[in-house]
Amino acid sequence: MAECNVCGASLEPNKETVKGELMPCPECGTELEVTNIDPFTVAEAPQEDEDWGE
Ligand SMILES: [Zn+2]
Repeated sequence: MAECNVCGASLEPNKETVKGELMPCPECGTELEVTNIDPFTVAEAPQEDEDWGE
């Protein structure tokens, strides 16, 4: 089990979860990337579509 980096919600992989998969946090909606399966860890995914106001 892993925790959302943003809100601390508990996240669990299902049998189809693979490393590198993106999964939105069910609590706060933050896009999380699965960085490892065993142990299960996630990291906040890069916000590639963010508007930086260039
Ligand atoms: Zn969250």
